[in-house]
Amino acid sequence: MSATATSEVPLTLMDQHDPELFAQLIAAIERVAAKGAFTGGAAVEEFENDYADWCECAHAIGVSSGTEALILALRALGVEPGDEVIVPANSFIATAEAVSLVGARPRFADVDRDTQVVTVETLQAALTPNVRCVIPVHLYGRTVELEPIVSWARANGLLVLEDAAQAHGARSRGRRVGTVGDVGAFSFYPAKNLGAWGDGGAVVTGDAQVAERVRLLRSHGEQPRYHHRAIGTTARLDAIQAAVLRVKLGHLEQWNAARRAAAERLREAIGHDGIVVPPNPPDADGDHVYHQFVVRTPHRDAMRQLLAERGIATGVHYPIPIHRSQAYAAEVGSLDVAPTATELAGEILSLPIFPAITAEQIERVGEALRESAQRLDAAVAATTG
Ligand SMILES: *Cc1c(COP(=O)(O)O)cnc(C)c1O
Repeated sequence: MSATATSEVPLTLMDQHDPELFAQLIAAIERVAAKGAFTGGAAVEEFENDYADWCECAHAIGVSSGTEALILALRALGVEPGDEVIVPANSFIATAEAVSLVGARPRFADVDRDTQVVTVETLQAALTPNVRCVIPVHLYGRTVELEPIVSWARANGLLVLEDAAQAHGARSRGRRVGTVGDVGAFSFYPAKNLGAWGDGGAVVTGDAQVAERVRLLRSHGEQPRYHHRAIGTTARLDAIQAAVLRVKLGHLEQWNAARRAAAERLREAIGHDGIVVPPNPPDADGDHVYHQFVVRTPHRDAMRQLLAERGIATGVHYPIPIHRSQAYAAEVGSLDVAPTATELAGEILSLPIFPAITAEQIERVGEALRESAQRLDAAVAATTG
């Protein structure tokens, strides 16, 4: 969807719409190109140091994508074929794919209806004797309440890998997400809260051994040159991406604050009984970074259509829960192991949210939603009454 026409409200905006930032990023890329050091080197190390500091964590390892971050984290934790790993049914498919790609088996946990993330109760329901690890996902930028989950995991001898691909900088009781469990995985896909100009990711951990293992595996298990200690892969973060990310990291705190402010305005602008807005997190300043602003409505598909007619872009994250996707349906079987996630998939609607969204754009979204909801309610009343 075009993001330029003034009459339209896009779902998100990319960096070319901010000329000052754009110039800083081009200059950063030029510096890397002039040196000719495209893999590893100072640009990657500087970003890794800055990202570890920003996450208030000992180690950050740059990798080639969020999916690779999850895969390498699982491998570094020792998850193997025959093991099972609990993942939420409502997430981007990569969370489950990473488990399958290391030869383990995903077990799908349902999610809470209001927050749309996992809880101890939903994880417990998915527990089997073969589960070694759980992957809570801070979906839409909302912090999963981690402390009870970590205690439960410890009591059951399970490892905790946080999928923080949508939640850069969110906090859980004051601690940055990604650093509360054993290890955290981030994606820098361009549309994430911190996005590269291509693919990228990072693993963060306080455990020096896990960090060392991820470093080794991301580059052919090689250390030193041509001495291969383990079967690794090519999953390094490019120097150009590291340079882009380092510039953008300097803006992230302010961008996340702008997303929170936009979320507050959206909540106020909507004000219709039939549209359920995301509940406020326990700490409004820390526990949500609004990668997406997801409302629920019984008229989701018709609503999308009416909003599109008014030039307002929307998304659905995600229309098919992972356990119902073609990729996993056969493995999971016909019994619905995550009925709440299945129901939510028909009701959720992601509204435009990005740091530069204007008060006027938010007003337009609110007005369009209220009017569409009234029209749809009236249509339903006419057919049933
Ligand atoms: C984006 C995303 C990933 C995967 O990241 P890529 O960089 O696209 O590989 C994993 N988990 C979640 C929840 C995501 O949103």
